[in-house]
Amino acid sequence: MPELKFDKTKCAECKAISCLVKCQYMDFKDRDRAKKEWQKVINGDNSSVLEACTTCYACEEYCPFGNHPFYMLVERQEEKGILPAPRPIIKMWINQCQPVGRFIVGKVEEKALSYCFLPQFNTLVKGKLFDGIALSVIFGQEFFCNAVYLHYAKASVIKDRLPKIVENIKSQGIKELVCLHDECYGTFTSLAPAYGIDIPFKPIHYYEYMYNRLKELKDLIKPLNIKAAYQRNCSARLCPETDHYVDDIFGLIGVERVKREYDRDNALCCAETIRMAKGPAMADDLQKKNIDDMVKFGAKYCVFNCPACYDSLAEKVAKAGIDPIHMIDLCRLALGEERGQKLHLEGMPVLRAAMEDRQYE
Ligand code: SF4
Ligand code: SF4
Repeated sequence: MPELKFDKTKCAECKAISCLVKCQYMDFKDRDRAKKEWQKVINGDNSSVLEACTTCYACEEYCPFGNHPFYMLVERQEEKGILPAPRPIIKMWINQCQPVGRFIVGKVEEKALSYCFLPQFNTLVKGKLFDGIALSVIFGQEFFCNAVYLHYAKASVIKDRLPKIVENIKSQGIKELVCLHDECYGTFTSLAPAYGIDIPFKPIHYYEYMYNRLKELKDLIKPLNIKAAYQRNCSARLCPETDHYVDDIFGLIGVERVKREYDRDNALCCAETIRMAKGPAMADDLQKKNIDDMVKFGAKYCVFNCPACYDSLAEKVAKAGIDPIHMIDLCRLALGEERGQKLHLEGMPVLRAAMEDRQYE
């Protein structure tokens, strides 16, 4: 099994202990206390951190030394059998995502799109943004990045499956892989190197792909002139270096990213994994705080990166009078195209009235 590259001496010398001090779900403002508790995690002792962690991934971003505190935490949770979700849910995920040799591919070229294991991309990948690449697609459990098991204290499943997944992708002759789910991108650029797993193709974040494509199509762009809240997802914490593309894309298509409290490194995740791990009260409270914040800062749209966040939050966001939209659809609107993903509004007359003056169809 690949082993996590983790440098204990970095933590011993670290003064900030940002991994715990910045955690939004635990109160570790006292750095000395944070240091002691984190040392317990590293040393394999019992620690309240292992129980309290919501698996939001954020400490991967907070550590200024790239020392992978969250991956370490998941290793320790698994060693001690501290499961952040009910056992049957974990079992279900492990079984349903197991690679079984049934490849679902399009007309795969050297440059391909990865849908990960998210069929929602079928409705999103359309139009000029994807001219020439739309059919070069891989999808399903043979190509599933498996990072989701970070939420379930099952690093062993990732370590077992990821090398096979990488081999499956390589076997398709793919040289450049545009990852439409940034959990895949984060897996190939953060998780895999942290475990010493080689990636024999070039992962490209779809934001980078879309930014470059939009520049090619700039004469067709009609600025949207809207204010939008950005919903930053858990896996964005594995690749924070890509966040500037949100600003770059918004700049190209005339979208103002509202400067709200729960964005950038203070983002709140969609809270659906928290619902499984910690129950509905905490998840509902977090979602309310997040959506209230979007309303407070005058957002008219909520832009999603992750289709799973969209599934969790879109209806709730819409009920607050904000138009939920995936980043791909937002770019398509700016190109004068129709959005692919549509929220079913039947039975929501109040919402329908609230959104009458929007571009929603
Ligand atoms: S994981 Fe990073 S932030 Fe946390 S103590 Fe170690 S070096 Fe510091
Ligand atoms: S994953 Fe999130 S909740 Fe868990 S320790 Fe890191 S920052 Fe805190």
